[in-house]
Amino acid sequence: MKKGYLGIDVGSISTKGVIIDEEGNIVSSHYMWTNGNPIEAVKSLVFKLKNGLNKDVKIKGVGVTGSARKLIGTILGANLVKNEITAHAVGTLHVKPDTKTILEIGGQDSKIIIIDDGVVVDYAMNTLCAAGTGSFLSSQAKRLGVEIEDIGNIAISSKNPSKIAARCTVFAESDLVHKIQAGHKKEDIIAGLCKAVVGNYLNNIGKGKKILSPIVFQGGVSKNIGVVEAFKEELGTDIYVDPNGHLMGALGVALLSKNEEEIDFDFNIVDLKFTTSSRECSGCPNNCEVIIVKKGNEVIDSWGNKCERGMLVK
Ligand code: SF4
Repeated sequence: MKKGYLGIDVGSISTKGVIIDEEGNIVSSHYMWTNGNPIEAVKSLVFKLKNGLNKDVKIKGVGVTGSARKLIGTILGANLVKNEITAHAVGTLHVKPDTKTILEIGGQDSKIIIIDDGVVVDYAMNTLCAAGTGSFLSSQAKRLGVEIEDIGNIAISSKNPSKIAARCTVFAESDLVHKIQAGHKKEDIIAGLCKAVVGNYLNNIGKGKKILSPIVFQGGVSKNIGVVEAFKEELGTDIYVDPNGHLMGALGVALLSKNEEEIDFDFNIVDLKFTTSSRECSGCPNNCEVIIVKKGNEVIDSWGNKCERGMLVK
């Protein structure tokens, strides 16, 4: 039976997974919403990945990344748990070895990774501010009565993008309301929003970073052609978007798990001895909705808290 390696990226919004063969080719992949329940999401993901295989594969390595990596790594008996920066860099360099900059915009977070000669030399992530993320774009699309999937094509049809204040999400939002009231065309406002997301991103996360080509753009928002075009214009250079860009974290940890001691992974992971409970952390005005995961009385991990203090919520 052929050997395979499983890689899983569990984020707050979406859960992604791949199975690769010994040569590093993706032989099964799946993407789904986390829906606030990473354990259920991963169980369903693993089932889908197994069904996506067209021949029997013996999984000899499991790598996990993403915000719930510790928890999912424990449940799956992973032989590798890695942070998102390393995972994304390894995955991206596998498909595009000369990459110098990775721009990533997901649903609730974004990051930038600077690479020199195949090595990560600088990075930044945002976790507390929505500026420059997909959730900002989708909430504004809703306000304009536009489906999130349609934003990109509507944006590129604009001849005269509105100037939306890009300093931060709050300013951008109030400026958007003003533009609607002033009668700006929908496509111009949407193109302006795409530019605002890029402006937010470059002014926050990209601030002071050496953004050199080749540049790879990934994460859910990279599927939005309006934002891709806005990046090209703002940076004055071409941007590479891989069709599997959303899977790079999962691919990275699958590849890295190959270097670890082999394990025998059983697809029938239904260890249900984990319990979850949810409460609100009042440690600061963020009031995070925290899900605590326990095995017996022992706290294994927490979910939804934006800082370590959320782990202490009773
Ligand atoms: S976990 Fe608690 S202290 Fe930390 S950011 Fe959220 S609300 Fe604030």
